[in-house]
Amino acid sequence: MTAAGGDVVIHPPFANLFVRGNAVDSMDLELPETGVYIGGTSRDGIESFPVLDPATNERLATVAEAGEPGVDAAVSDSNEALADWQALEPRERGRHLLNLAAAIREHSERLARIETAENGRPISQSRSLVTGSANYFEYYAGIVDKIEGETIPVPGEYLDYTVREPLGVTGHLVPWNVSLKLGARSIAPALACGNTVVAKPAPEAPLSLLAFAEIATEAGLPDGVLNVVPGDGPRTGAALTGDDRVRGLVFTGSRATGEIVGTAAAKRIVPVALELGGKSPNIVFPDADLDRAARDTLKAFGNAGQICHAGTRVFVHDDVYDSFVADLVDRAESMSIGPGHADPDLGPLITADARNDVVEAVEQAVEDGARLRCGGHVPREDGNYYAPTLLDRVDDDAALSCEELFGPVLALYRFETEAEVIERANDTRYGLYGVVWTNDLSRAHRVAGALEAGSIAVNEYPATFVEAPFGGYKESGIGREKGRHAIDHYTQIKNVAVRIGEDE
Ligand code: NAD
Repeated sequence: MTAAGGDVVIHPPFANLFVRGNAVDSMDLELPETGVYIGGTSRDGIESFPVLDPATNERLATVAEAGEPGVDAAVSDSNEALADWQALEPRERGRHLLNLAAAIREHSERLARIETAENGRPISQSRSLVTGSANYFEYYAGIVDKIEGETIPVPGEYLDYTVREPLGVTGHLVPWNVSLKLGARSIAPALACGNTVVAKPAPEAPLSLLAFAEIATEAGLPDGVLNVVPGDGPRTGAALTGDDRVRGLVFTGSRATGEIVGTAAAKRIVPVALELGGKSPNIVFPDADLDRAARDTLKAFGNAGQICHAGTRVFVHDDVYDSFVADLVDRAESMSIGPGHADPDLGPLITADARNDVVEAVEQAVEDGARLRCGGHVPREDGNYYAPTLLDRVDDDAALSCEELFGPVLALYRFETEAEVIERANDTRYGLYGVVWTNDLSRAHRVAGALEAGSIAVNEYPATFVEAPFGGYKESGIGREKGRHAIDHYTQIKNVAVRIGEDE
């Protein structure tokens, strides 16, 4: 990126902290077949598109665009696989899920390297996300024989009971920011409940899900139970959401695309889970463990800040504001940046456009009166890097306070009272996550209760679990993934009323 005069701006601390290395050469990648993955094999698409290495913007792979024909074939195949998959004893389906978990663990290093190559993320973060993907299959393997109905005490002489049945073929629209783990988050419960899956990864990072599909076939998953259709949103994604045979949809992505997918689902009257973005508050009270709070606050820079539930609005109590912010600045300025395989603190952003959006948003914020406390520049011309950035004096109604920005940028706000910070934290269209830092037990519960968000973490960030529900309040989404709650989305309830009384 260039300054107004056209020179490359390299800010001194980051020039020193840049971790050198060419991303792809050092990765020793064994890429998957890059066609449309249907029925256990890779096929051609309607055309192809490049996947770029975010650290260099050089081509990493060329991938087939499934388009309408690819989606049509994948859905047909998944539809055919449905009856046999549903006929399996629950425990047998569970064994398949355990096999998938074991296969992910066996191939974990390869999958992590692929994710780091296509996403740019530091390799240690990718390793942990791949382990997290295996955890989903293990958790839902254990739930297959616990998807229970209920008996209802209706008036009269009846046996009234419910059963939970699968939806059928399910369509999964996956974002690029955590492809494999977010794919696993919905694929595992969908399969556990007896559905088949057609998954569409994002075009920026489709390789890890394609690799997973191959691994799943090797691990014995019956052909057609999981198909992967790479491609863009308007053609391949829309073909999937519009296919009448797809009886359930799950979308993880931006609020804007969520509206499109939600509309497509409404037109066909199919259930849809929408897992969208956020602008989450991270609230630091003066009695908190401030060292820990500062450390975790900057975990929002994981994945180069491209995290849906990042606490990007940091509210700090007036009593500790100056010292806490000074600590944050010191820590942020000592973060290393570089290609993901070298395992720095921050890798590049996903694309040059995404990085340029961040550049523009920060420039706009400064123009609107925000004060740059650190970062705010591009540390290196090649690759899509952006320095970890902290700004304060940001108005509550400025774009930076209201719109999700996917990048390593945090806005800092000063507050004085609990009531004030709750009101300001809730003054957003989003409601995905909230973080509270305090050692006052009553206050912790009070504030957690008052925040309008689907998940709250107290005295740690992040604190999310496969076992616990996750999803948005307000415009951050509809439905809950994870834990037992996901079963609600991947099953439909049938009520059976059996008359058992005899005629008088
Ligand atoms: P995106 O909305 O651009 O795309 C998500 C997926 O939808 C991609 O596969 C994309 O190709 C597809 N898509 C795009 N247009 C479509 C259309 N018209 N029809 C059908 N599918 C279409 O999101 P992204 O940029 O890939 O991901 C980043 C966003 O995801 C951020 O907003 C982030 O907050 C959000 N996110 C949310 C969660 C969560 O759990 N709530 C998790 C991760 C990311």
